[in-house]
Amino acid sequence: MIIDTHAHIDGPDFDEDREEVIQRAVDSGVQYILNIGCDVESSYQSLVLAEQYAMIYATAGVHPHDVKNINDYTYSNLREMLAHPKMVAVGETGLDYFKNYSPQDLQRIHFRKHIELALELKKPLIIHCRDANEDMVSILSEYYPSADSPSGIFHCFSGDQNLADKALEMGFYISFSGSVTFKKLDHLREVAKTIPADKLFVETDCPFLAPVPKRGKRNEPAYVNHTAELLAEVRGLKLEDLQRASTLNFFELFGIGEAAPSGTIVYQIRDSLYINLTNRCTDNCVFCTRLTRPIVQGYNLALKREPTSEEIWDAIDDPAKYKEVVFCGYGEPTLRLDVVKEVAKKIKDAGGRVRLNTNGHGNMIHKRNILPELKGLIDEVSVSLNADSSEKYDEICQPLPMFRNRAYGMIKEFIAESRKYIPDVQATIVTQQDSVDEDRCKEISENEFEVNYRERRYNMVG
Ligand code: SF4
Ligand SMILES: [Zn+2]
Ligand SMILES: [Zn+2]
Repeated sequence: MIIDTHAHIDGPDFDEDREEVIQRAVDSGVQYILNIGCDVESSYQSLVLAEQYAMIYATAGVHPHDVKNINDYTYSNLREMLAHPKMVAVGETGLDYFKNYSPQDLQRIHFRKHIELALELKKPLIIHCRDANEDMVSILSEYYPSADSPSGIFHCFSGDQNLADKALEMGFYISFSGSVTFKKLDHLREVAKTIPADKLFVETDCPFLAPVPKRGKRNEPAYVNHTAELLAEVRGLKLEDLQRASTLNFFELFGIGEAAPSGTIVYQIRDSLYINLTNRCTDNCVFCTRLTRPIVQGYNLALKREPTSEEIWDAIDDPAKYKEVVFCGYGEPTLRLDVVKEVAKKIKDAGGRVRLNTNGHGNMIHKRNILPELKGLIDEVSVSLNADSSEKYDEICQPLPMFRNRAYGMIKEFIAESRKYIPDVQATIVTQQDSVDEDRCKEISENEFEVNYRERRYNMVG
């Protein structure tokens, strides 16, 4: 299932075959289409489509190209339409300094009016931004992040990393259209790699910007999968991973679709199977959403109770089917060391490969060196180092009071011990913690411990 979060199928390009276009979308797994209003007329036509088709939802707004045509009745018309339950967002609105079809000062005035309307109605905003990054950020940041209103979507994102980072800071989602598949746009793909899974959408913006391999043709919602496939590929994921995460995002932003069920014991991302053992942890990392939003790539890892070894083993099915089986989840697996050992043994006996993702507190938790016990059971261990000094570790990872001041030293010891018993050892840090010297972490890992070092952005691959 996939969602086209930005389509214009109300327009004349689709007059001949709208019905077939919608059917083709359904046949290719498109679950919902968000049809976007660009002026009063197209907002109204979008609403008509939304009333006609259960899978279509609509928005109302005036595109920055058209704000010169706004009259005394425009906003009252938009308001009236937005009262409809299937009118789920305000827009598209924004700034387009590339075409400049409407004067820039007028664009800014009406962008603000749209923002104020969205905030008043507590609806998300659909943003169009072209060659106007600076004004965009400066205007939006007067209003967002908003404590009591949803954010919205930067649609057909074509900006740079700075704009993406600013948009994320203000709480916005980023949606990519077919342009991210275009050969020359490597820089856009680089930005696409960095958007957290819980902030990502795909769209067609049809009839425009058909993705490769349909480039040059009239675009339509069914083609959204080509963009999703490319995005999954550049992010090192499978199409299903991207579909799952973006579908949940749609539910979280618009309330359409379904929430992810809690109680996930095992979950697949790419060709790896992850085991969610516990939600308990001896850290409380500043970036961790374990207690507030325990979602990874569209899976809900909130556990009402911790699964038993038997339940885990039943859920794994056949470990040899996967590239690796990883003890991970939102919580520290070594808090349940006996379960790790028992299940790891079964996986190994069945011909699987086992990885352990840990915060490296195992020896402190159990007050003994647990590494010899893991020999032959764990093929690879990935330890979160997360800082270049003890003070910074305590600041970022906020370990339990009894572990403070000594956690960092113990983690380094854990890594050193791991090398004696586990074939593959790597140290990781979550990037973008301003105070952490990433080069120093790399140096510590590679020179001091002689282990692999990996940086990862939070919530990128789980
Ligand atoms: S170690 Fe992992 S699970 Fe624990 S608080 Fe940090 S990020 Fe969250
Ligand atoms: Zn647009
Ligand atoms: Zn549009």
